[in-house]
Amino acid sequence: MKIRRITTEPISIPLKQVFRTALRTVTTLENILVNVETDSEYTGYGSAAPTAVITGETAGSIADAVAHIGAAIEGMDLAGHELVFQRLNRCLVGNNSAKAAVDMALYDLLAKSLGIPLYRLLGGNIQPLETDITISLDTIDRMVEDSRARLAEGFTILKIKVGNNPELDIERLEQIYRSVGSEVSMRIDANQGWQPKEAVYVGREIARRGIPVELMEQPVAARRYRDLAYVKKRVLLPVYADESVFSGAEALELIRIGAVDGINIKLMKCGGIYNARKIAAIAEAAGIPCMIGSMMECQVSVTAAAHLAAATSTISIMDLDAPLFCSSNPAAGGISYRGSEIVLPDEPGLGISGFNGSSHHGVKRS
Ligand code: MG
Repeated sequence: MKIRRITTEPISIPLKQVFRTALRTVTTLENILVNVETDSEYTGYGSAAPTAVITGETAGSIADAVAHIGAAIEGMDLAGHELVFQRLNRCLVGNNSAKAAVDMALYDLLAKSLGIPLYRLLGGNIQPLETDITISLDTIDRMVEDSRARLAEGFTILKIKVGNNPELDIERLEQIYRSVGSEVSMRIDANQGWQPKEAVYVGREIARRGIPVELMEQPVAARRYRDLAYVKKRVLLPVYADESVFSGAEALELIRIGAVDGINIKLMKCGGIYNARKIAAIAEAAGIPCMIGSMMECQVSVTAAAHLAAATSTISIMDLDAPLFCSSNPAAGGISYRGSEIVLPDEPGLGISGFNGSSHHGVKRS
């Protein structure tokens, strides 16, 4: 099966509710859909999310990078897919979200050509997928209200966005805990918003107040590995790196200096499934767990992440709620949700039969 042509299409999907972190506020999801056409009956599907403040990529840069990747791998035969993935990763530096969109479309094709769902190609549906649900950064009252609403919808794990003010953050957690905390599990994500000492203060203060938190994600600036190690050594809470880890090399370095208890893998950061599996293997060798997350991504790329998570024993924590914020699905098929449970499709590949036309409700072609 030879790669014939790779094309892109930008889409925008309004969110059902505003998504806010210490880094950004999002009201509309902008994604790039990718088609990989072959000389066979199969087309591979992928998508990328431009997240300029984290990956440096924009919708325009992703479209250009995918065209560059296309020029590098068009004509290659997937019978030797190791070489295709090597060239995909080496034909340009960075641009990992663009790479991820092509990578997942190639995995989609590999599984389709075997007539099996992607999770089977990757190791099997070996574990249930229970996602947390994100509580956006907001006033204490709104965050408490949002938490109660999510509990009522059946979610039992909250991922609470913090990181813009340590005292206020502690108060947010205390009030949410008092309101719903005995019935849910809480994870917190500061999105780089704290100074190292602030992160230690928050970690110790919530422990002192008896607020149970499962893990703390990316407390300090992404490139400050020593600050991450400083925090990790001083709090009992497991510290997970998110924006600090794009590559296997970075995962190795963070593990080497003792800076992390766990790693959050995102396809948009690492360049897709091929590289994500290498990071998971490094974490496994170091004896630390991984979580899997996403940017503000549509059903297509989150479906790819869900296939990977279902098949990878090292990935034990799921943060794959982004499609729940979208007013529509640009693809036919993919994962669905039953409360917090992610249901994988059983059709070959990603389980996506195509992209919906421009008339599809809520999806604007631009
Ligand atoms: Mg995060």
